[in-house]
Amino acid sequence: MSGGEMRRVTAINNGTVIDHVPAGAALSVLRMLGVSEDRASPVSLVMNVPSSKHGRKDIIKVEDRELTQDELDRLALIAPKASVAIIRSYSVAEKRVVTIGEELVNVARCTFSNCITTNPREPQDHRIRVVATEPLELRCRYCGRPQEIADLVENLI
Ligand SMILES: [Zn+2]
Repeated sequence: MSGGEMRRVTAINNGTVIDHVPAGAALSVLRMLGVSEDRASPVSLVMNVPSSKHGRKDIIKVEDRELTQDELDRLALIAPKASVAIIRSYSVAEKRVVTIGEELVNVARCTFSNCITTNPREPQDHRIRVVATEPLELRCRYCGRPQEIADLVENLI
């Protein structure tokens, strides 16, 4: 492969590059962002590459779409150490950090079936509290039940 071809594969003109995604988590990240259904944005994945920081990692490049901070904060569930670059005209225009706040509001539904948030007659925001970050511990604000990441990923809003 010549240098020119390599560049075409790895560089994007405009869009978002998400680096330091835990190895194997790229597809979940795409689902979380709703990018996989949105065929308008070409996506390239680099999976399982060596990382100086955390062993192995995935990298995601989404063309022609700048992810908002709101979208990025969803990543905190599965890629809390991700670093994000917004690319414009082939160069890094902005860097963004994924931040896990104290609460995830309307990101995912509580996984406990009897939670008040599942009652359609009493609509309210879905609030998952971040009790601890290392390791990540999440609880529903309403029923207090612990929430597993794997289950929450199935319950994204
Ligand atoms: Zn709940």
